[in-house]
Amino acid sequence: MNTPLLKVRGLKVAYGGIEAVKGIDFEVNEGELVTLIGSNGAGKTTTMKAITGTLPMNDGDIEYLGQSIRGRGAWDLVKDGLAMVPEGRGVFTRMTIAENLQMGAHIRNDHAEVAADLEKMFALFPRLKERRDQLAGTLSGGEQQMLAMARGLMSRPKVLLMDEPSMGLSPILVDRIFEIVRDVSAQGVTILLVEQNASRALQIADRGYVMDSGLITMQGEAKKMLDDPKVRAAYLGE
Ligand code: ATP
Repeated sequence: MNTPLLKVRGLKVAYGGIEAVKGIDFEVNEGELVTLIGSNGAGKTTTMKAITGTLPMNDGDIEYLGQSIRGRGAWDLVKDGLAMVPEGRGVFTRMTIAENLQMGAHIRNDHAEVAADLEKMFALFPRLKERRDQLAGTLSGGEQQMLAMARGLMSRPKVLLMDEPSMGLSPILVDRIFEIVRDVSAQGVTILLVEQNASRALQIADRGYVMDSGLITMQGEAKKMLDDPKVRAAYLGE
């Protein structure tokens, strides 16, 4: 039996009078890698922001670990295991890589384990290890993306939310980032991945949802969606 860690029901989110998310339902079960795909302006980032408690819901509800997140702040949700790797990365540019990673673990008190996790992140991202004392602002875009992901993992999240990790990266780095997302998922972290790169996202995901103009228009097993002519025509450029 699948257990939903995240359950979104009838969610509506508006900016002023304009509704960007118009009533959507989806869930992410424990251990799953779920992707939310769709074109520019579909409402994917807005949905993510509502889940992390950074944008208020206009209607509907979001349950995390079986309880509504209504009225809970972003900070409280992070402490409870909901980590976000934001679009545009948001690393602390004036801190070193090692310091950024320590910041990711600031909610934890298990210092010995934090040190062990730091070494794990350096094993997963050797580039970050080589540059551990370098200021994050001097990293390349791809390296900053890796740092943002590693920083998110340092909180030992139950659910990792990722907003367009492949954006702006060279093809080789895109390959690497998707490999890493798949590896992290294989280690048991539940992941919700927002991506415009629909084909790549569906290749690594268990299930997918397509968002269009604030609504979910298609959903299913990722492998089946990859073969679906409607999905291929609309989102995979065929
Ligand atoms: P992209 O893939 O281009 O990032 P998206 O699917 O993440 O797109 P959102 O960023 O959620 O889309 O935007 C959904 C809609 O909400 C868009 O029409 C956008 O213009 C609008 N929107 C987003 N942020 C704001 C804001 N702060 N104020 C007003 N409208 C906004």
